[in-house]
Amino acid sequence: MKSFNPDLFRQQFPALSEAGCYLDSAATTLKPLSVINATKEYYAHNGATVHRSAHTAAQHATELFDNARLQVAQRLNAASERQIVWTKGTTEAINLVAQSYARPRLQPGDEIIVTESEHHSNLIPWLMVAKQTGANVVKLPLNKWFMPDLSQLPALLSSKTKILAIGHMSNVTGGCPDLHLAITLAHKNGTVVMVDGAQGVVHSPPDVQQLDIDFYAFSAHKLYGPTGIGALYGKAELLAEMSPWQGGGKMLTQASFHGFEAQPVPECFEAGTPNIAGVIGVGAALSWLKTQDIAEAERYACALAQAAYDQLSSIPGFISYRAPGSSLLAFNIEGFHHSDVATLLSEQGVAIRSGQHCAQPLLDAMGVSGTLRASFAPYNQLTDVDRLYDALTHALSLLE
Ligand code: PMP
Repeated sequence: MKSFNPDLFRQQFPALSEAGCYLDSAATTLKPLSVINATKEYYAHNGATVHRSAHTAAQHATELFDNARLQVAQRLNAASERQIVWTKGTTEAINLVAQSYARPRLQPGDEIIVTESEHHSNLIPWLMVAKQTGANVVKLPLNKWFMPDLSQLPALLSSKTKILAIGHMSNVTGGCPDLHLAITLAHKNGTVVMVDGAQGVVHSPPDVQQLDIDFYAFSAHKLYGPTGIGALYGKAELLAEMSPWQGGGKMLTQASFHGFEAQPVPECFEAGTPNIAGVIGVGAALSWLKTQDIAEAERYACALAQAAYDQLSSIPGFISYRAPGSSLLAFNIEGFHHSDVATLLSEQGVAIRSGQHCAQPLLDAMGVSGTLRASFAPYNQLTDVDRLYDALTHALSLLE
């Protein structure tokens, strides 16, 4: 039986000994030894490319590479690994959908609904494609908890609405909208849904079939995997309708000066030599995750965030933007600038993020220029909460 032991979990993250009090896992998670070793092993003992050469090392690398795609499909409960396209991460996956799916289909006057709490990665690609096609980006406003107000969605959906762009989990509040409701409403209207899973995938991997998700994007580096690698899940029929957006080696079956014939999905979207070590690292991260009681680990991380919330609530001027139950704690202290506080925390070895979190429209809706954000992972411990509190009260005393 899988179990979660915070000390054993923590021991698997060598960077913790250097990182001090690391409370920035929503930006990127630290990597467990099994991921570090898998990528090291590839570079130290293999190093061959994939899907090209017949020699043993290349074959072994290809097996690991293909197996990782299968593991992603299993994690998302996709019907086939051929619905998984490797990308650099969430950002590239959403841009791929915007350019390859949406751009050829959007007509002037069409609409793309984007929630007001989206990360810039799920806003800017839509603003760009709107400009290219004459379509319009329409805002789905937030409710008083700074969550997408899905009660306003039916009124915004019309025959013009071609895409709904919505996040699985906010990288600021940690709130998760009701994806099932959003997708049901969108599909009733014939609208395709792009889900940004960058934050959500580590906390609650979606069942893409059960939720009937059209497109789902995520980055491995927020899921204990390497940076610079991620994936797009797409419904088979939607991916099949899309044309390749980048040309180059291995995305075609034949080429001449008159043209080329594209490979089937997903290879047609993966031009050029891929990030092999990254993909192998994704496979290692997903194998490792299977050995952990991640549901219990998540509950533990959320309890740490709750403990931090409880402690920090005693500080005068503390304002929290945390969605209840989340492992993220975005906050401000009235009268103090978030970046000044973050700098003083860093000087005391406490790593948290400050600023707009690439979600400027959300921060505008909150009426603040930025926030501090402490994000907890299962490798954190109660002493991290105490260190945050002590460093914060010291920083405020210096700034007063
Ligand atoms: N969406 C959300 C909600 C995120 O938190 C992030 C990363 N901060 C992204 C998208 C972009 O991810 P990446 O930079 O790995 O492409």
